Amino acid sequence: MNQLRAIFFDIDDTLYSTSEFSELARSASLDAMIEAGLNMSKDQLQEELDEVINEFTSNYEHHFDKLLLRIPKKHYKGINPSIIIAAGVMAYHETKSTRLFPYEDAIEALRLLSTKTDLLLGVITEGLEVKQAEKLVRMRITQYLSPSAIFISNQIGISKPNPKIYQRACSDLNLRPAETMYVGDNPLYDVDPPNRIGMITVRVRRGGKYHGVEGKTAPAREVQNFWDLLDYLRQDYGIEV
Ligand SMILES: [Mg+2]
Repeated sequence: MNQLRAIFFDIDDTLYSTSEFSELARSASLDAMIEAGLNMSKDQLQEELDEVINEFTSNYEHHFDKLLLRIPKKHYKGINPSIIIAAGVMAYHETKSTRLFPYEDAIEALRLLSTKTDLLLGVITEGLEVKQAEKLVRMRITQYLSPSAIFISNQIGISKPNPKIYQRACSDLNLRPAETMYVGDNPLYDVDPPNRIGMITVRVRRGGKYHGVEGKTAPAREVQNFWDLLDYLRQDYGIEV
């Protein structure tokens, strides 16, 4: 049986449903902006916001500012646009505190693995440093992770799908890729690159925007949730929790 020493996890649409959360948060923001005096239908605003996100990426931090810039001023006549933007931003943050939760099986699996095994648990994630770190803190999962095993692309200057981000995580922790596992939802970012350096890859396929996407290489195992992952660890690595 192969020795497994570490498991790294993706965050978005792996530890929590990013797609579902973003939809809720954006919807709450648009309602709040309308409430603050933006006179336009929610459908139209939604369409425009989707374009902003596509054009400036989901990591961009001023979506609502850009959204208002694109809308003719007659739709918020007499109202300071900053008030409308602030209303949107506030609603987004409020949704974070009420609706940003990890999948129940994810948190339970992390808890079990951290308390009942010697595995080193970490995160390798694509995104802005404080934004990704905030997700970990809000989900209250840092207690289960090794503090030196959190790797955020923007913080180390290497982005997925460059396999170097995975290489860096392994070398920083003195691990051979073959004794590490990566668990993620996007086959192009989370399976192909770590496969290339010889990590063991697990694809979580439970929804999200990459659900139907196929990569160039197959993961070692495909799972629907973290209970399946625990089964796999028991069957193939003799790890009992
Ligand atoms: Mg993901």
